[in-house]
Order: sequence, then C-alpha cells, then structure tokens
Amino acid sequence: MAQQFDYIVLGAGSGGIASANRAAMRGANVLLIEAKELGGTCVNVGCVPKKVMWHGAQVAEAIKLYGPDYGFDTTINSFDWGKLIESREAYIDRIHQGYNRGLESNGVNLVRGFGRFVDSKTIEVNGEQYTAENILVAVGGRPVIPNIPGAEHGIDSNGFFALKEQPKRVAVVGAGYIAVELAGVLHSLGSETHLLVRKQAPLRTFDPMITDTLVEIMAEEGPTLHTNSTPKDVIKNDDGSLTLNLENGASLNIDCLIWAIGREPSTDSIHLAAAGVQVNDRGYVPVDEYQRTNVPHIHAVGDIMEGGIELTPVAVKAGRALSERLFGGQTEAKMDYSLVPTVVFSHPPIGTIGLTEDQAKEEYGHDCVKVYNSSFAAMYTAVTAHRQQTRMKLICVGKDEKIVGLHGIGYAMDEILQGFAVAIKMGATKADFDSVVALHPTSAEEFVTMR
Ligand code: NDP
Repeated sequence: MAQQFDYIVLGAGSGGIASANRAAMRGANVLLIEAKELGGTCVNVGCVPKKVMWHGAQVAEAIKLYGPDYGFDTTINSFDWGKLIESREAYIDRIHQGYNRGLESNGVNLVRGFGRFVDSKTIEVNGEQYTAENILVAVGGRPVIPNIPGAEHGIDSNGFFALKEQPKRVAVVGAGYIAVELAGVLHSLGSETHLLVRKQAPLRTFDPMITDTLVEIMAEEGPTLHTNSTPKDVIKNDDGSLTLNLENGASLNIDCLIWAIGREPSTDSIHLAAAGVQVNDRGYVPVDEYQRTNVPHIHAVGDIMEGGIELTPVAVKAGRALSERLFGGQTEAKMDYSLVPTVVFSHPPIGTIGLTEDQAKEEYGHDCVKVYNSSFAAMYTAVTAHRQQTRMKLICVGKDEKIVGLHGIGYAMDEILQGFAVAIKMGATKADFDSVVALHPTSAEEFVTMR
C-alpha cells in the first residue's frame, strides 16, 4: 500500500525545501524526497560555497591591492586553500543542520533516495510508493559539458567545489555568471587564470556599460580574458597537464580546465512521462503563472521551469507562493517574475534590475528614454595606488522619468542593489530618487545624486 500525503515535493533544493516547509506550516502532511544533500545546488555546489570563495578572494584583494596604502605590511607567506575549503564546508554543514531542524520543527517527512513517477499521483523511492493529491517537482539542474574531443579532462562547477588543491594554471570556459565568478575567484586567490569566451565579451546579455566596465577592469586586474576563443579539443599530457586547443589556432597549457558553458534541467530520469507531464526538447517543464504543468496537480519551480529565472530566491518565492495557494487559503498567490534583481559576484560585483538601455529604447521608443550615468573611483580604492572604477546607470522613461532599469558595477554593488530594487518595484521615478538625502560618503549616494 502506498503511503498517502497531501503534498509530495521531489527535490530538497532551495525551492523544494521552502515550499515543503510552508505547506507544512499551513497544516499539510508533506513528504520531501531528496537523493543527495539537503539544499540542492545553491547550498552545496552553488551560491553558498561560491560566496565563501568570493569572500576569500575579497580578503586576498584587500591584502594585495589595498593593504599597503592603508599602511599595512602585507607580506603573504602562504595561502592555505585547504583551510578555506574546511571553513566553507563547516559552514555548509551548519546550514544542513539548520535545514534539518527546520524540516523537523515544521513536521515535514523526509525520505532519502531517488524518486521517480509511477503515475501522476504516485512516486516511488527505494522501492516504496507514496501518493499525494498535489506534487511539486523541484529537481533543479546540472552543468553541461561540451561535445568536443577530450572534454572529459575538464571539470564543471561541481568539480570546482570538489578541488582539494588550488590549481596553478586554470582555464575557465564560458561567458555567464558562473564562468565570470569562478574565474574571478581563482585569479584573486592567486591561480594563473584564463577566461575564454567564444564571442567578444562575457555577460553579453547585461547592459553594455556593465560588460564594457568588467572587460576594462579585467584588462587591468585580471583574469586574462580571451575573446573569440572556442575550444576545439583537449589533450591530457604525460605530466598531467592539459593542452586546450582553440578553433582560432591558439592553445593553452593548463593544470585545470573548468567548463562553465551553461546548465540543463535534471528532468530526464524522474519518469515525468509516466505522469503525463510534458517537457520541451531541452527537458525544461512548461508551467502556467501558478506553477502548474500540463497536469494541473503537478507543479514545477526553480531551474527546471521553461523560461524561468535560474536564481535561488526566485525558486524560494515561487515555492512558498505555491504552498500558500494550495494550503494557505491564498487562492491567487503566485510568483511575480517581473523586476527580479540580480547580482554577479564578479570583481568588482555587478548589480542590476530591470531593462538595459537597448531594451528600454526598444520597448518605449528612443525619444522616451533618458539615461543617467555616473563613473568614479570608489573611495575605498581612491586613497590607494590601485584605483578601481565604479560605474552606475539609471534608465528612465516618459515625462515623469519612471526608473525602468538600474545597473551598477563596483565596490559593494552587491549590497547596494537590494534597497534600490524595492524602490523600483514600487514604481520610483527619478524625482523620488532625487528627493532622498544622500548617505555620505558612500558609493550608493551616486544613485540619488545623478545629473
Ligand atoms: P549561463 O547560461 O548564464 O551562461 C553560459 C554562457 O556560456 C552562455 O550564455 C554562452 O555565452 C556561453 N556558452 C554556451 N555554450 C558555450 C560553448 N559551447 N562554448 C563556449 N561558451 C559557451 O550559464 P551559467 O552556467 O553561467 O549560469 C546558469 C545560471 O545560474 C545563470 O543564468 C544564473 O541565472 C544562475 N547563477 C546565478 C548566480 C548569481 O546569482 N550570482 C551565480 C551563478 C549562476 P555566449 O553566447 O556569450 O558565448
């Protein structure tokens, strides 16, 4: 006999855990199924370990780039990669314990194992069957590896987080968030780092001001950016090093190769077809605004969603809204996918919300768009020999100059963005920004003093 629940959540990543907890808090009898560690990509091989590595890189930069002019003797005798990893993993372990405590106190039932659909209301795990009237699929994604000879000699972002030793010479291939973030971390921590993009720049979908500034700062500080560089094959040499040959005829000799060319949904082994759930040709699950798949009692959130935004807080918000709708009496609760702010933990960090300048001009017409820019050296770096640019941009539309895009790259931009995102979500205009007294001296004040 199958055990019955009100709600089965397949996948205990950020979205799954958030939804399971919220449903249980609203009185549902919930089963959460997970084959690996609690927390999914974000906690185990994504945002959390990445941010710890980024903080490590910030410490290295403070010592190397800025320390001397602040009067410190900054001779570094060694850097212990293993110690950083140990601290990182201990932190992640505490997060796992926190998740366990949260699930326990909310009364969520947890089953460890790989779940597969048997039919639209039944999931099998470790030979046991479980049924529910409502099911959430939140199984997340995984990195992809290119289909070229020798690609298996490289690692992906999961492999990066498993590195026990710091690679001396490393190539990171890719042009998205992950490639930029990992290359920046490795470079700042002291690896000879090459970032290879197949076109003219990384982060091409961002406002050009962001991309151009990042490229400019990379040229000054590193890592070494190789543009128009598409890998052709990879050869493993007798001494264990790798030769990465490019289609443009160039080649690189490295100790470690990291593929960061994108991710794909992990929907291929969970037998969605047995439940009648449709996926697109890349394995993504189409859902409606209420996270419903084509089978109305089966839902999907997070990185498996067709056309979704692959960010942890998006999955968390969508998962919670779904549980409020199903079990909290909020019959219209749903995730609002508009104006989602995002940060890239590059060096320096990038913060962005809303439309790029080109998108705004296309949507509202060239003449309706007014753009404000600011460019300066952040004070933290302005007193040192090594100066680093901060650039900011506001994109406004119409007579009342409603702000439809805010973009920044520079010191502390990761922390600056959140509050401004609230204002923009509330419909702020340039005049609203101007009405606020500046916090002086900060970088953030530039956003309210632009002329
Ligand atoms: P992305 O899809 O963002 O970027 C991958 C990029 O790599 C592509 O856009 C493409 O850029 C390039 N690429 C694709 N195929 C190849 C290829 N065969 N050879 C060389 N380059 C290739 O993927 P990521 O894996 O970086 O990130 C996935 C998602 O995870 C992000 O979109 C983001 O939503 C999320 N994320 C968020 C973070 C954050 O919030 N800070 C951090 C990390 C991830 P091009 O076309 O320009 O070549």
